Amino acid sequence: MEPLALGVMLAVGENPLERVKHVRQMGFPTVQMGVPPPKFATEEAKAELRAALAEAGVIVTTVFCGFAGESYADIPTVRRTVGLVPKETRAVRLDRAREIAQFAKDIGSPRIAIHIGFVPEEPDDPDYPACVETLRQLADHAGSLGLQVTLETGQETASTLKRFIQDSRRDNVKVNFDPANMILYGSGDPIEALDHVGQWVVGTHCKDGKWPTEEGQLGHEVPLGQGDVGIEEFVTKLFNLGYRGPLTIEREITGEQQTRDILMAKELLEGIRAKLLSG
Ligand code: MG
Repeated sequence: MEPLALGVMLAVGENPLERVKHVRQMGFPTVQMGVPPPKFATEEAKAELRAALAEAGVIVTTVFCGFAGESYADIPTVRRTVGLVPKETRAVRLDRAREIAQFAKDIGSPRIAIHIGFVPEEPDDPDYPACVETLRQLADHAGSLGLQVTLETGQETASTLKRFIQDSRRDNVKVNFDPANMILYGSGDPIEALDHVGQWVVGTHCKDGKWPTEEGQLGHEVPLGQGDVGIEEFVTKLFNLGYRGPLTIEREITGEQQTRDILMAKELLEGIRAKLLSG
């Protein structure tokens, strides 16, 4: 893979093969893929997907875990429903995440990514040790398949994320850094956050957003380059920390506007990338 290879985050939905074709049409060499519905986990469907990716010349750099019942409507809902932190669904989702890791391995992805949920900010929170143990179990399973587990940034502060990774004591736990999420959730300046967790970053979402204006509300996502991230500064800092992994555009809207915004972001990143690689 080329250094700072451009990529796009792809929700594969009901038609993974069509979506792969779309990535190719947009001209991306890499993709981060949302997990397709369980019916695509058959050997036949996986072989078909591998063939489509090979034909398109698209490399899968991660498979994103998603779970039934998650909602990103507002911060309290995210807290209640997202990831492996909510207790009621933890065991069943951990099993599902193990299946997703197997799927990732089978289609040739070197890692999975997960929004683990709101990791408790206080290390003496009674549920914190169980969250660490859950991460270890997932990391050990992924490790047995030769995969990394990347934690998507956003819901917690960078210092909490750093502590959580260190407490896991697992070398295959890494970070998929989404700078816009830090802003949308009001969890801290993303560029400063790299000082805490930069060494673990193996993937990134090139996404932009505006800070929330009201307590408990999410900020709002905007096209890349139009928000508060400072994307050139962000990518440059990552680069200076030694990052050469993919730059994966994420734009969480749908339809033709999504494609237009993604292509605009691609052009913006191509310029930043060329400058960094030639300098
Ligand atoms: Mg993201």
